[in-house]
Amino acid sequence: MIRVGHGFDAHRLVEGRRLVLGGVAIPFEKGTLGHSDADVLAHALSDAMLGAAALGDLGGRFPDSDPKWKDADSMLLLERCAREVHDAGFILVNVDATIVLQRPRLAPHIERMRRNVAQRLGVTIDHISVKAKTSEEMGYTGDGTGIAAYAVALVETTR
Ligand code: MG
Repeated sequence: MIRVGHGFDAHRLVEGRRLVLGGVAIPFEKGTLGHSDADVLAHALSDAMLGAAALGDLGGRFPDSDPKWKDADSMLLLERCAREVHDAGFILVNVDATIVLQRPRLAPHIERMRRNVAQRLGVTIDHISVKAKTSEEMGYTGDGTGIAAYAVALVETTR
């Protein structure tokens, strides 16, 4: 049986924070605000993975009220979610993600994000798609207020 999961995440962009997407630190004058490292791509992917297995969500596992997850490496959290999904009897087929932001241009960093995600999810890079889009200067992703990410994950049962 195959199953699909969906994930969404958004974070504010502010000065004095790092911009980390898919575990890649991207040079920019602003970064994402959050309790963890606020890696929107990792968060959307985590929720997509968990969603495919109907295992709840990232926030339920690593609440932002818990000091333990302050400045947490979200790629590590993604890896833990993936392990949980695997232990529940699923293998990953593929993921596809879209990051929505106006600036900076992400094209030079996409390949490294895909490689990082593939490594954490235990698959080869050809199973991982990451795309970046602007929202044509509309809304919070368009005026530089924030970044959003969407992801879907397809898994199949191992038993
Ligand atoms: Mg988040």
